[in-house]
Amino acid sequence: GSVFAHLVQAPEDPILGVTVAYNKDPSPVKLNLGVGAYRTEEGKPLVLNVVRKAEQQLINDRTRIKEYLPIVGLVEFNKLSAKLILGADSPAIRENRVTTVECLSGTGSLRVGGEFLAKHYHQKTIYITQPTWGNHPKIFTLAGLTVKTYRYYDPSTRGLNFQGLIEDLGAATPGSIVLLHACAHNPTGVDPTIQQWEQIRQLMRSKGLMPFFDSAYQGFASGSLDADAKPIRMFVADGGECLVAQSYAKNMGLYGERVGALSIVCKSSDVAGKVESQLKLVIRPMYSSPPIHGASIVAVILRDRNLFNEWTLELKAMADRIISMRKQLFEALRARGTPGDWSHIIKQIGMFTFTGLNPAQVSYMTKEYHIYMTSDGRISMAGLSSKTVPHLADAIHAVAT
Ligand code: PMP
Repeated sequence: GSVFAHLVQAPEDPILGVTVAYNKDPSPVKLNLGVGAYRTEEGKPLVLNVVRKAEQQLINDRTRIKEYLPIVGLVEFNKLSAKLILGADSPAIRENRVTTVECLSGTGSLRVGGEFLAKHYHQKTIYITQPTWGNHPKIFTLAGLTVKTYRYYDPSTRGLNFQGLIEDLGAATPGSIVLLHACAHNPTGVDPTIQQWEQIRQLMRSKGLMPFFDSAYQGFASGSLDADAKPIRMFVADGGECLVAQSYAKNMGLYGERVGALSIVCKSSDVAGKVESQLKLVIRPMYSSPPIHGASIVAVILRDRNLFNEWTLELKAMADRIISMRKQLFEALRARGTPGDWSHIIKQIGMFTFTGLNPAQVSYMTKEYHIYMTSDGRISMAGLSSKTVPHLADAIHAVAT
């Protein structure tokens, strides 16, 4: 018999499993609103034009080689990534107190940051939002941290539970790590206002709570790279320390290239140097060094003014299409006279709408309408199109009536 015969079949990942089920459904009207990947109005995955151009440049350059990157990845990519998220005029960058390492997309950046903190930071507890992206608790638990939650979402308003958030962070052990979604909170689509961010910042700094930003959607929430980075820049502007995990999966459409960055903003360049030396010790036994291709694409785009400008337009177009889907879905429900207040569909931002549909309603919509989403009622607006909005609206109407 096999030494593995005792294994039990593990369940599919709750998010990726939605696509597995969708793929098995032969219905011609089936709709996948589970996974957070952008689709065009025609329902097709999108490779950005600037990405095609950057890849062409890379191919034409015969001097390019396939040697290993350093442990920290592509150094130019790291510098440009820090500038993109912290701002070109960031004093922290100017003062040389930011260390940035290329990682395997957002997930890898969170994991490396988590392991670094578990090894070297005096508090091992990380607070994550309730609810959050399903991978967060697993990433940080495996990184060696203790995961606790803070209140975030208020189901009754389908908005932010700011009072609960402030109470929970106020009651956290001083020095604890707090994971903050930089923008476009997943799964709720609910973000604090700038005034609320300022209160969060003051509270966290007064208690010495360590901010760890997860930035998976820069540019995707508002269509503006700078606006979506604002909360992070507020925390950096006060001179304090923080961590930032960046992903280029959504905003450059580089999902499968697995390209992202972890930046740690330190108090001094001396500390930043030591931090980087320790990050290398985390990375080396984990995957030795990161891949070249995705980071090279990003570097080509970020270093060239024309390509950069073109990227911001393509990014804005993706964000605008998502915003337009929100309006269309909201209008379609209004036209049907669907009971309930659905204004959260247009108030929430980013890739997802947290519909408020319960697991029974979700399962009914899957069975009767072949519409696939996570059981928490989260739908990816990027998976919708003008053609499929009526079908979704019919399904929501049916379960809400
Ligand atoms: N954080 C959040 C909140 C996300 O939604 C995602 C993507 N679903 C990620 C991080 C990481 O994604 P990736 O590893 O593909 O960059």
